[in-house]
Amino acid sequence: MKKLIIDVRLNEYAMRDENPNVPWSPAEIAADAIECYEAGATSVHFHGRDGKTGAAANDFETYAQIIRGIRSKAPDVLVHSTLGYVTHEAAERKIDHILKLARDPMTRPDIAPVDMATMNVDIYSSEKKAFITDDQVFYNPTRLLQYFTQQIQAAGVKTIHTCWNVPCTRTVQAFIEMGLIKGPAYIALLMSESGLLAGHPGNYKGLAAHLDFLPTNGPIEWIALVYPGSIQPVASMVIAEGGHLSFGLGDHPYLELGGKPRNADIVRHIVKLARDMGREIATPEEARAMLGIPQLLKAAAA
Ligand code: ZN
Repeated sequence: MKKLIIDVRLNEYAMRDENPNVPWSPAEIAADAIECYEAGATSVHFHGRDGKTGAAANDFETYAQIIRGIRSKAPDVLVHSTLGYVTHEAAERKIDHILKLARDPMTRPDIAPVDMATMNVDIYSSEKKAFITDDQVFYNPTRLLQYFTQQIQAAGVKTIHTCWNVPCTRTVQAFIEMGLIKGPAYIALLMSESGLLAGHPGNYKGLAAHLDFLPTNGPIEWIALVYPGSIQPVASMVIAEGGHLSFGLGDHPYLELGGKPRNADIVRHIVKLARDMGREIATPEEARAMLGIPQLLKAAAA
C-alpha cells in the first residue's frame, strides 16, 4: 500500500483552556513542529498566533520566523502554511504573506491551502439551542479561488484544495479540467464536529459521502481532516482507503489519549495505528515525490 502522509495541524485558532500544549509564539510553533517531525510527521500546518494572547497574527514576519525556526532543525519536513480564515474585505490580500515568503527559498512554504467555497462558519450550541455567532462567513468566491490557485502555484508553492462538501470537490474537478492545477491535485476532505455545521459529519458516513465524489479526470492525492473534532472516528477508514491524515491540537484537545498530550504524542498514536494496519509513513521526500513538490531547499543549497 502507498505510504501515509501525516500532516499535523499544530494550532489553528485553538485556545489553551482544555490543553495548554497548543503552540502560539513562533518559537513554540517551530519547537513543536520539530518534535512532531521527530515523532514521524511528514508535514506541519500552522497559523501565526500572538505568543501572549493567542490572537491570529497573519503577518509576513511571524511566518518567516516560524519557517526559519523549523528549517534550522528539520529542513526536510514539509511546511504547510495558511492564508487565514474568516474574512470579508480585501480577501485578495490573504495571499500577500505567502507570496512574500515564497521569494526566499528559506522561507518559501511547500504547501498552501485554497478553501473551495464560501460558507457560513458559525458555531451551533446544542446545549443552548442557539448559534454562538450568526454572521461568520468564510468568503471564497470562484474568481478568488482561481486567482489564489494561479498565484500560489506561480510562486512555486503546491496548492492543497480544501473541500468542505461535495460542491467543493466538483469545483476541483472543474479546475483540473481547466488545467489550473499543476501535477496531482492535492485534496483535503474536511469534516467538522463540535458545533461547526459547514463540513460533512466527522464519521464513516461523512467520509464515505466525500469519497463517492472524488475527481475522476486527473491524478489526485487526498487527505482527511476533522476541524473541529477528533480524527479518531475516521482514521482507520482513511488508512484503509489509501488516503492521508491531517490532525492535531488545532482541531481537538485529544484528552482521551490520556493526560494533556502534546502534538507529537498524537503523531506517535497515529503512526502506531497505521503500522498496525500495515501502512508505513511517508518521509517528507517520499511525500514530495507523491505530490509533485520540488526539492526546494536542496535545489537552493546546490
Ligand atoms: Zn489551518
